[in-house]
Amino acid sequence: VSSAVIMKGTQDETEQEQAALSQAEVQKQSIQEVRRSLPVFPYREDLLLAIQQHQILVIEGETGSGKTTQIPQFLMESGYNDGGMKIGCTQPRRVAAMSVAARVAQEVGVKLGNEVGYSIRFEDCTSERTVLKYMTDGIGLCLKVVVVIIDEAHERTLHTDILFGLIKDIARFRPDLKVLVASATLDTERFSCFFDDAPVFRIPGRRFPVDIFYTKAPEADYLEACVVSVLQIHVTQPPGDCLVFLTGQEEIETCCELLQERCRRLGSKISELLVLPIYANLPSDMQAKIFSPTPPGSRKVVVATNIAETSLTIDGIIYVIDPGFCKQKSYNARTGMESLIVTPCSRASANQRAGRAGRVAAGKCFRLYTAWAFKHEMEESTVPEIQRTNLGNVVLLLKSLGINDLIHFDFMDPPPHETLVLQDIKYLLCFSLNISIFLYLSRYKCSEEVLTIAAMLSVNNSIFYRPKDKVVHADNARQNFVVPGGDHMVLLNVYTQWLESGYSTQWCYENFIQFRSMKRARDVREQLEGLMDRIEVEVCSSGGDIVPIRKAVTAGYFYHTARLSKGGYKTVKHQQTVYVHPNSSLFEEQPRWLIYHELVFTTKEFMRQVFDQGELLLSCHCCHLPLLFKVFRPLDFFHILFSTALF
Ligand code: ADP
Ligand code: MG
Repeated sequence: VSSAVIMKGTQDETEQEQAALSQAEVQKQSIQEVRRSLPVFPYREDLLLAIQQHQILVIEGETGSGKTTQIPQFLMESGYNDGGMKIGCTQPRRVAAMSVAARVAQEVGVKLGNEVGYSIRFEDCTSERTVLKYMTDGIGLCLKVVVVIIDEAHERTLHTDILFGLIKDIARFRPDLKVLVASATLDTERFSCFFDDAPVFRIPGRRFPVDIFYTKAPEADYLEACVVSVLQIHVTQPPGDCLVFLTGQEEIETCCELLQERCRRLGSKISELLVLPIYANLPSDMQAKIFSPTPPGSRKVVVATNIAETSLTIDGIIYVIDPGFCKQKSYNARTGMESLIVTPCSRASANQRAGRAGRVAAGKCFRLYTAWAFKHEMEESTVPEIQRTNLGNVVLLLKSLGINDLIHFDFMDPPPHETLVLQDIKYLLCFSLNISIFLYLSRYKCSEEVLTIAAMLSVNNSIFYRPKDKVVHADNARQNFVVPGGDHMVLLNVYTQWLESGYSTQWCYENFIQFRSMKRARDVREQLEGLMDRIEVEVCSSGGDIVPIRKAVTAGYFYHTARLSKGGYKTVKHQQTVYVHPNSSLFEEQPRWLIYHELVFTTKEFMRQVFDQGELLLSCHCCHLPLLFKVFRPLDFFHILFSTALF
């Protein structure tokens, strides 16, 4: 009997093993089938030939045709990486870099981080063995790269635009380097023109017709309109998944919540509706969920930012709901105000969004605006980021890359000449100012603290995690970090406690702190510490005394001073009315003099990250008069002194 049992056991095991084996085999086969079904597949040989014949090639193809996931694999399969060479593919968005790398690793059949990996700012998931690397920061490309793919070129992010100029230059000196510029069906002629008439390889798309519907009148509340539209589709339309475009995390969470609540109320009257959010700050395990197949009998609705416009392709979408908005950064050089406001998206964006509905079958796109608005109120295409950003940052980025001649840098759309020159001068002056700050640090003996504050400010606004369903807990946790002095001190407190916890993930989780951001702050801090070391400034602590920290911050940021005035604040430099951000620890307190880290316009002109500067301004400046005069127009400076004297 016993031998029979054993026999049975082994047989079972073998069967199980075989089953597991064949399951893996089936999975592998189906992956290969999917790969073969993508529009780019029939063009594999033609494409490889074109790459062989040309140093720079522009590749145009409908979103979802396989540019990002397949082309690097073709290159690997045909031996471009022989001899330890590497293939780099740049991505404008972090989520896309991670998710695409995971997908390709799976298709190739390797563990993510081995042969296929990704590298995003402060998170490197690659190893010695990595051959194919998806990265957000293409600027850190290494010498061993044999093919660079500048992906999602049509997005025209600041990094992409700078990369264009850099790569064009590098390619001249490295004839062995291959450059592929991949774009959705937008703007490809311009890319070709910029790269000295590089040929364009077009991958014909397979697109099903998409019916477009407009509203008769403008919608007053587009979020509510989205919720109603999704439910209407769910109840009246044949099977097929649904994709909703909103502008950011908060809206997306609200929308998902409303949908779930209404479904709960309808109960068994309707079939199951799976509601899935996707936005940049969503934890990666949640991000992966949008790709899992919809169980039969139910419908999936993905509520996304414009990340789903071209960067990510979700299979099975038949219905698209487009309220016609996106969040856009803009910058006012005169006032130094950066704004992130919800604005109507461009017609090009709207058309990309609609296209998402016709990938697997004929689809429908519901535009929650009028046909007239589409024609007359929307811009033709989105303005490149370089033209609506703080040029100071562009200059800083280029300088940090060792590019000193900004005026002759080959920009695809050059920023205004005068602004560039002005920023260049400012940069030089600010550099000397920074040194003065470091001197202050050594003088006031609080460099430990100021380094931490600077690092925490550099990852600003992504430290505190505030999920919709735990708002009260999250706010309580945040309140527990409040200490006198303002937001800079709160950030310092968060970092110090995290350090004391041994940089613990669990601690972050319990205190509603984003671990990823903290890790980033720690890296930035290490870099800054290295810098201090280079200029031989001793790192030392103020030992819990706030006064030296206050002096150092005031010295560094005195030109960001604001004075309490009639319910709001007035900036000293431009006499502009501004307000303390409701998230600030000084929101209630409203001290008379503040130093702000940055100005942002969202619903109002807000100061973000504010510091109660006490009564220090005057005493701090006197010893640095000559230097400060160089940086700011003397009039500005007197203005500040004068306003200070008033109080
Ligand atoms: P393109 O870059 O041309 O827009 P992609 O290479 O991104 O196209 O997409 C090709 C296919 O790979 C699409 O069908 C998409 O659904 C699939 N895909 C991409 N990423 C993932 C993922 N993380 N999980 C599952 N499928 C994915
Ligand atoms: Mg792509």
